Amino acid sequence: MMTSEGPKNPCTCGHGRRSHEVDYSNYPQRVEHGKCRVKGCPCTKYERRGE
Ligand SMILES: [Zn+2]
Ligand SMILES: [Zn+2]
Repeated sequence: MMTSEGPKNPCTCGHGRRSHEVDYSNYPQRVEHGKCRVKGCPCTKYERRGE
């Protein structure tokens, strides 16, 4: 099942996926997102919020 990766895909920290650093260590199999780039945000790893 495909995950919808629209702009509305907020992390547990409340910031969007695109506000996080991109981790290409598993590229191209998988692109993950690392820490949040928003200043002052303590988020260290992008994690999608559950519903
Ligand atoms: Zn985050
Ligand atoms: Zn954040």
